[in-house]
Amino acid sequence: MANANEFFSTLGKTLSRTANMVGRKTDEFVTVQKIRNRRNNLEEQVELSCRKIGELIYQEYSEGKEIPEELEKICRSIEEKKKEIGECREQIALVKGARLCPSCGALIPKEANYCMNCGTPSGPQKTEAEETEEAAEEKNPAQEEEE
Ligand SMILES: [Zn+2]
Repeated sequence: MANANEFFSTLGKTLSRTANMVGRKTDEFVTVQKIRNRRNNLEEQVELSCRKIGELIYQEYSEGKEIPEELEKICRSIEEKKKEIGECREQIALVKGARLCPSCGALIPKEANYCMNCGTPSGPQKTEAEETEEAAEEKNPAQEEEE
């Protein structure tokens, strides 16, 4: 009986020691997590500030202000990429069925009958193209199934 009591007493001590360790581990984990969150937050703020600096410099470049040559090079490459981004947008719109205004060159959405930029009517052109497309599809229904 004494042995059993001893056993349970030892077991109890071991368990509470383990619980303590787990508790300490949990505290450690929570503390580390808090510090990590703070660090991530600060890193984000630094990144945002860096981006802000970049945007301010690019704005100066766009306004024709004089900036260091090294920065001007970067700004020029940004400008080229922005132009390409615009072209990609245009290409996607064209693939999706939009058209370019014959008068001003603005992009006209598929469903629009007039150019939103200059008011040039653009409906008939599209209808013709669509009719041709539909006729082609009717002649070749197998192609439609493949899609
Ligand atoms: Zn137009």
